[in-house]
Amino acid sequence: MSDITKKEGYPYGFKPSACSTCAGRCCTGESGYIYVSKNEIISIAKLLNLSVNDFGVKYLFKKDYKYSIKEVQHEGSHECVFYDRNTNGCKIYESRPSQCITFPFWDYYKTRVDELKEECPGIVDV
Ligand code: SF4
Ligand code: SF4
Repeated sequence: MSDITKKEGYPYGFKPSACSTCAGRCCTGESGYIYVSKNEIISIAKLLNLSVNDFGVKYLFKKDYKYSIKEVQHEGSHECVFYDRNTNGCKIYESRPSQCITFPFWDYYKTRVDELKEECPGIVDV
């Protein structure tokens, strides 16, 4: 059975097995925005056993009319504050935002496959 994930309308596929050796490049590297919806904020706060307000103060910042998860810097890399370098995983995996769940199948990348390949070693031609 193929371990390549495909999605209709996307000119590339994704090999999830690449995640085990890539050191979380989609959670680290260039600075970016990790947007969270209101429901996602409630869900992550619950997972962390924090009030929505305390969670927001500690982990979020406002970008225009949306909220994004904060980053920390490590050796020149901007990492999502929930990235766990020790396990190469996500500390809020069960409640991670839809932006993270849907990567690498983002509309943005439909016409930017070369850019995506530079970020994610799991991208394959289909
Ligand atoms: S960049 Fe790609 S291969 Fe690496 S962890 Fe993210 S999805 Fe997996
Ligand atoms: S929330 Fe988790 S999956 Fe999303 S960028 Fe942060 S560490 Fe990565």
